Amino acid sequence: MPTDLIPHPGPANIDFAPGAGTVAPPSMETNAQPTIRYRVDSKNQLISVSDEWIAFAAENDGESVAPDLVLGKNLLAAISDLTLRQLYLQLVALARLGRPARFRFRCDSPGFRRLFEMTIRGQEGGVVEFSSVLLESESRPEVALFDFHQARNESFLRVCSWCQRIAVGTSWLPVEEAVDRLGLMHQPTLPSLTHGICEKCNSEMLAAIAKLGRSGTAEPA
Ligand SMILES: [Zn+2]
Repeated sequence: MPTDLIPHPGPANIDFAPGAGTVAPPSMETNAQPTIRYRVDSKNQLISVSDEWIAFAAENDGESVAPDLVLGKNLLAAISDLTLRQLYLQLVALARLGRPARFRFRCDSPGFRRLFEMTIRGQEGGVVEFSSVLLESESRPEVALFDFHQARNESFLRVCSWCQRIAVGTSWLPVEEAVDRLGLMHQPTLPSLTHGICEKCNSEMLAAIAKLGRSGTAEPA
């Protein structure tokens, strides 16, 4: 199964929903953009995906993520990067405690830089819903590295699930710079992408998770 099932969260700006037991704000529901939703059960198995998710997956990852192939799979176990999986486990655990998280992340297409906002919140019986909405989209020259149609080779590049920068040596670079630095422009095949999280986004997320954990015991604002 694909390891990258979901629009990847990432904090361009971290904005956790305030207070214990609050639900996502009404703006999430009234936003004109389609909301991409999916839900996992108490064992983190995918139990539903919205039509928007199906459309998004087909557009971004190809047919390999058809819903009948992913329903019933353990969403979090499918995340190969341990740091990333750990973050999700914490977010999902907090959601089940009635502490929904809301944050922004980049999820680009080849021709667009895109900023999404994701909300993770708990429902009855340990079910957790992930919902994402597109906030901003800015066109740019096509980046083949983000095009799933491109032929891939055996090598891998790590992409940060939050800011979409690419790991090059010890640095994380915007994709255009990474392509340039690695000389990928004229390669017949491109490295495959694997999702992780950069140190900056990880430390921001850990700080936000700690804050979210504390806010659960504080008086609601
Ligand atoms: Zn990052």
